[in-house]
Amino acid sequence: MIVLKDVSKAFGGVQANKKVSLEVEEGKITGLIGPNGSGKTTVFNSIVGYHPIDEGSIQFRGQEISEMPVQSIARLGLLRTFQQTRIYSKMNCVENMLISTDNRNVSLWDMFGSRTSEIQDKAEHLLEFVGLYRKRTLKAGDLSFGQQKLLEFAMALMNDPDILLLDEPTAGINPTLINGLIDRLHRANTEFGITLFVIEHNMRVIMNMADQIYCLSNGQMLASGKPEDIQNDKRVIDAYLGGH
Ligand code: ADP
Ligand code: MG
Repeated sequence: MIVLKDVSKAFGGVQANKKVSLEVEEGKITGLIGPNGSGKTTVFNSIVGYHPIDEGSIQFRGQEISEMPVQSIARLGLLRTFQQTRIYSKMNCVENMLISTDNRNVSLWDMFGSRTSEIQDKAEHLLEFVGLYRKRTLKAGDLSFGQQKLLEFAMALMNDPDILLLDEPTAGINPTLINGLIDRLHRANTEFGITLFVIEHNMRVIMNMADQIYCLSNGQMLASGKPEDIQNDKRVIDAYLGGH
């Protein structure tokens, strides 16, 4: 579904990504791991068109997207969430859901026209799906950090993405919410058919979730394989222990 070939990106003197190649298979959950600063978020930013790449190619379903603007890429059905949540803290959960709908599936006219209740229903269903239905009228800023991440996930689902890029979805979430979130991610994949590409720092989480894992180190692809292969890969273990 996504194919990166030799993608490089530098910020000033920092080579954030160096000839990174990877493939995300449709229908699967693919993981991207690596120590802090290894270039994971840069890979996501390049894919979604947040910044231009220096060299290489990025294809989505066979189409070159590396020169396309952010909005056009989003309209193809490719969405991402951020390491830091981006919610409107003074609006309640339902309102956050409604404004997160882009114009791929709904126009402003629909928002205020006949489809209003349909969209409202969808928002409430998705809030139920992530376990926030009872909190739906609370201000998003009053939710716990973990609940805000669940809300952000539900907001992304409002747009019916074909593929969702999740940047450290479990970071900062307490352990009891983590299992619930992993379960929701699995269900989004199996029940809604959404392909997932997940950056995750927690090894246990990604090992339990991903079909295929890529490991970055110092901006370069260090290893890739099935979870069991990655778990036992000496290069990966060294990169994590060494902090590089
Ligand atoms: P990770 O997500 O794996 O922690 P990042 O992709 O965020 O790593 O960062 C990789 C490197 O690129 C780091 O050294 C980081 O400081 C640098 N970097 C990332 N984004 C920018 C930016 N917008 N401007 C300058 N340097 C950046
Ligand atoms: Mg990051």
